[in-house]
Amino acid sequence: MKKHNFYAGPSILSEYTINNAADAVLNFAGTELSILEVSHRSKEFVAVMDEARALVKELLNIPAGYEVLFLGGGASMQFCMAPYNFLKTKAAYLDTGVWASKAIVEAKLFGEVVVVGSSKDKNYNYIPKDYTLPSDIDYFHITTNNTIYGTGYQKDLDVDARLIADMSSDIFSRPIDVSKYDLIYAGAQKNLAPAGVTLVIVRTEALGKVDRAIPTILNYATHSKKESMFNTPPVFPIYAALQTLRYYKSLGGVEALEKINRDKAAILYQEIERNKLFHGTAATEDRSIMNVCFVMNEEYSALEAEFITYATARGIIGIKGYRTVGGFRASIYNAMPKSSVEALIEAMQAFENEH
Ligand SMILES: *Cc1c(COP(=O)(O)O)cnc(C)c1O
Repeated sequence: MKKHNFYAGPSILSEYTINNAADAVLNFAGTELSILEVSHRSKEFVAVMDEARALVKELLNIPAGYEVLFLGGGASMQFCMAPYNFLKTKAAYLDTGVWASKAIVEAKLFGEVVVVGSSKDKNYNYIPKDYTLPSDIDYFHITTNNTIYGTGYQKDLDVDARLIADMSSDIFSRPIDVSKYDLIYAGAQKNLAPAGVTLVIVRTEALGKVDRAIPTILNYATHSKKESMFNTPPVFPIYAALQTLRYYKSLGGVEALEKINRDKAAILYQEIERNKLFHGTAATEDRSIMNVCFVMNEEYSALEAEFITYATARGIIGIKGYRTVGGFRASIYNAMPKSSVEALIEAMQAFENEH
């Protein structure tokens, strides 16, 4: 029996993705070669890249004028690549956690950074909303889902600025209005593929506006012109990503995924509220539908380690919270079946009954 995989990242992938990836490791697209050993310029792999790009456009309803790129370097490389390409003089950033803070550090290398809001005062358990954006910013950088703290936007932000967004942990979890963004990036290892590739969606009109020289490989225009083949792309993760994208389409796309995700999150939050042992840590209105963070109530806090052991014995893996938050984090990404969430809920109820 497969484990119930609640890891935050790398994290669960659909069975469809894993089975097809495994098949392609042995024989890729009838080539009698492994996907691990084929040229990225072979016609079979070029077809993979083309289909993956087209499916991202279709699933996210991306308007004309945007390019979809598959790059190496992780989301963390985008923390510097984004300001390198977009920050002329001033940018606004919202500090909603560790990842946002790391993006801020990099942006400061390129210009003035206005941190318009921060939820650090409450260990990032909410998303700041009372802030004003300077009128002369090049862009406003946000993190749409804060993986560590279990906070996230429920819908696109409505502000008078071009947006750049780190969507590493909630891409494809709900529909988005791509036209609001100049740049969207997402490390693949939460909702798309094994680690090694980063999905980038960039508005081509917005490129080429900074005066500084940009190293060729860090210039989005390079990858856009070369259709993500400027250098060797992460072939295997892109193949796996294609399988996930096909799977998402077969489920009915991101609208259908959002319904499934909201349903999974709702039953888990409901149990956290009902159960005498636990309470949630994120502000209710900002609760993530991807990462559900909770802790043991004060009087039961001695049971924390015991609950992890208890859950592990039931095949529930990866629910330990991030060290700065403590407690538990259940990452319930797109590929997580409702039955695994139900298994966690049953474990919480059974553990409650024993105490
Ligand atoms: C995991 C994560 C990152 C870091 O991604 P890497 O690919 O490891 O660089 C950045 N932002 C968010 C929101 C994440 O969840």
